[in-house]
Amino acid sequence: MIKPDAVRAGDSGLILDQIIRSGFEIKALKLVQLSQKEAEAFYAVHCERPFYGSLVEFMTSGPVVAAILEKENAVEAYRTLIGSTNPENAAEGTIRKRFASSIQNNAVHGSDSDENAEIECSFFFNHFERV
Ligand code: ATP
Ligand code: MG
Repeated sequence: MIKPDAVRAGDSGLILDQIIRSGFEIKALKLVQLSQKEAEAFYAVHCERPFYGSLVEFMTSGPVVAAILEKENAVEAYRTLIGSTNPENAAEGTIRKRFASSIQNNAVHGSDSDENAEIECSFFFNHFERV
């Protein structure tokens, strides 16, 4: 997912370009505005964390670009491509280093396991929106 900060900044095209050039194939893609309920559900695993309310507010502050990406070992490869959660700790050239402004407003989301990736794909896309 490209988060609202990066969509707002007009960086969606550059981010998708870096993803595609890094060997990922786009299997689904759309621009959507999350409701509060949807953002709360998407980040439910963080509901006890002190930043949860702020995170939900941020994630509903504007549209996001949702995508399904395919590559060998995609979860790990994509997390390497995006870099650390906090852009200050992200490696040079990673998407978060290039486009993120803070630990919360960190430009992109990535699934953390194959199992969660499948759940998150179904959260955003129905069967005829996926190729
Ligand atoms: P994501 O799940 O969005 O790909 P991540 O797996 O790198 O990011 P998580 O620990 O899952 O990081 O946190 C989810 C999101 O919550 C982060 O991407 C960030 O937007 C926000 N977040 C995480 N830690 C903090 C924090 N300490 N303060 C504010 N926001 C935070
Ligand atoms: Mg995460």
